[in-house]
Amino acid sequence: MRYDALIIGSGPAGSSAARLLAQAGWRVALVEKAEFPRRKVCGEFISATTMPVLKDCGVAVPFIAAAGPLVTRVGIYAGKAMLAAPREQSWGRALGREHLDVMLRDAARTAGAELFAPMEVTAVTRDGDGFLGTLDDGRSIAARTVIAACGSWNTKGVFAVPLDAPSPSDLFAFKAHFSGGALPDGLMPLLAFPGGYGGLVHTDEGRISLSCCIRRDAMTAARARHGGKAAEAVLAHIMETTRGVQAALGDAGLQGHFLSTGPIHPGIRARFSDGIYFTGNIAGEAHPVIAEGISMAIQSSGLLAKLLIAHRGETYAKEWKKRFAPRIRAASVFAHLAMRAPTRFASLTAIRAMPGLLGLGARLSGKAPISA
Ligand SMILES: Cc1cc2nc3c(=O)[nH]c(=O)nc-3n(C[C@H](O)[C@H](O)[C@H](O)COP(=O)(O)OP(=O)(O)OC[C@H]3O[C@@H](n4cnc5c(N)ncnc54)[C@H](O)[C@@H]3O)c2cc1C
Repeated sequence: MRYDALIIGSGPAGSSAARLLAQAGWRVALVEKAEFPRRKVCGEFISATTMPVLKDCGVAVPFIAAAGPLVTRVGIYAGKAMLAAPREQSWGRALGREHLDVMLRDAARTAGAELFAPMEVTAVTRDGDGFLGTLDDGRSIAARTVIAACGSWNTKGVFAVPLDAPSPSDLFAFKAHFSGGALPDGLMPLLAFPGGYGGLVHTDEGRISLSCCIRRDAMTAARARHGGKAAEAVLAHIMETTRGVQAALGDAGLQGHFLSTGPIHPGIRARFSDGIYFTGNIAGEAHPVIAEGISMAIQSSGLLAKLLIAHRGETYAKEWKKRFAPRIRAASVFAHLAMRAPTRFASLTAIRAMPGLLGLGARLSGKAPISA
């Protein structure tokens, strides 16, 4: 059987592309190599401005039912500073990726996409006017269109982002859940600490989610100072340098184990190459400091699906750049400010006046509904 689209990866980007194309009557094969549900390195925060996007994905109602409490104040913890926005508003909510990604994938299946999982696409070759995707069990999937939605953290395999030579500025990402703790209700602080940045948020099931990125040189120094495994040393470094995290997590208990990945590759990559479309993180990745990656992944797939259905796929790369490049560049500026001079970052008048940094990405390019 020949599919209209072979979609590689069922993260937010792959599942939303699959749902939209299947809804438009395309025969869609969605292939995912991981066994779901799976945890993932991610802050898990979804901004309120993303709710229309989740609605378009058919998961807004279950998302709100399962997610953590409403974030009503954003803030910044850096050095001794513990700043919180004076005004309360609805910023958004957090939900573990072990729940969100299953919701998005199931919505794609309900729309008619056929799921192959857990199964890895190991190669994609040309086949007449279409493509042949090879699965790790030896089977092949023939398709007219191939969409790579496989994220940006694979260093091996098909469409992997290759590792550059190690550099002190390489960024490693960590994530953990905690129970107990003393993070004030409704508060989501951005963390700026020497060599890195991160976030704390109340997520589902009463947990607190900590996620962060740290430069290789800062991580090496933390390991030399605190010993233990990389994740433990990074947590000790954040606790020691950031009073707000000490106050929030000092008495908290680690739930499960730390997750880690890296080096990660924030930046803009190919959106179309050799007849294959790229969407989500593989096409471009913002520094997670703006907590917009999931939304951007879904929106880039919305854009792609809309253009493919309208037979205008050739304009995707250009349109993508127009919509997402400003967010990626702005996030990079903020991330470097936070990492280089955390205390100065916290005292920047602009940040004090506008702790809505976390909504910045949305404001820069506007959130558009993704319905195709
Ligand atoms: C520290 C940190 C904190 C973050 N916090 C937030 C946040 O609070 N809010 C937010 O919105 N974003 C956040 N992000 C960003 C967010 O996690 C990503 O932007 C998002 O996961 C991208 O979605 P995606 O679908 O493009 O890729 P992914 O979620 O990576 O999904 C890709 C999928 O493809 C599968 N796959 C890969 N290769 C193959 C293959 N060959 N065959 C089959 N399947 C394959 C993988 O198993 C995976 O499931 C954070 C990121 C980091 C590093």
